[in-house]
Amino acid sequence: ALRIGVLALQGAFNEHVHALNSLRNTENIEKVIEVRTKTELDDIDALIIPGGESTAIALIAERCGILESLQDFVQHKPTWGTCAGLILLAKNAIHTKKGGQRLLDALPVTVSRNQFGRQVDSFTIKLDSPCLGAESVPFEYVFIRAPAIVSIDDPEVEPLVRLPPGHGQTEASESGLLVAVKYRNILGTSFHPELTSDNRWHRYFVRMALSG
Ligand code: GLN
Repeated sequence: ALRIGVLALQGAFNEHVHALNSLRNTENIEKVIEVRTKTELDDIDALIIPGGESTAIALIAERCGILESLQDFVQHKPTWGTCAGLILLAKNAIHTKKGGQRLLDALPVTVSRNQFGRQVDSFTIKLDSPCLGAESVPFEYVFIRAPAIVSIDDPEVEPLVRLPPGHGQTEASESGLLVAVKYRNILGTSFHPELTSDNRWHRYFVRMALSG
């Protein structure tokens, strides 16, 4: 059974905990915990890094003394980063704050911060998502000052979801921006699945973590 944690330093961690708890009747989950310390990190099999503000999360992690432990965790155990969490997991980021920002350096992609503009440019879009399974109901994707994955830097990275062309792109392009990828036991998504009541992405990650 899976012991799963949600990094609870800043951002939308409560909503992830809630979504995971909603899966406890159907999936093999032993416990869901909020993670703030190295001891809590040592106690889990898989981790979600929530959306929020990637610079703030990194700074708080550094101050709490768990940044190195996190860096180590994500190299070995299943981890899912949503939005700010995706930025933190990436090996490369562009449009970062002046002077750059600390990353966990695990997912070989380049992310572009705030690719879709400011808070007011947040949007939702319904898309078919074959990776979520047989049910052909589209998933409603929520983007809030979201990053996009602008390049895949290792052939092992699997693209999972792409937006239709036009969203977040200033130049004409045949393929839309990539907003979900999987690499070994890392999942990275630009959107906020924890802000909808549809828990299929949480189920996807739980199953990925149990099988990994
Ligand atoms: N723009 C934020 C960042 O750069 C991410 C936004 C979010 O997580 N909703 O960290």
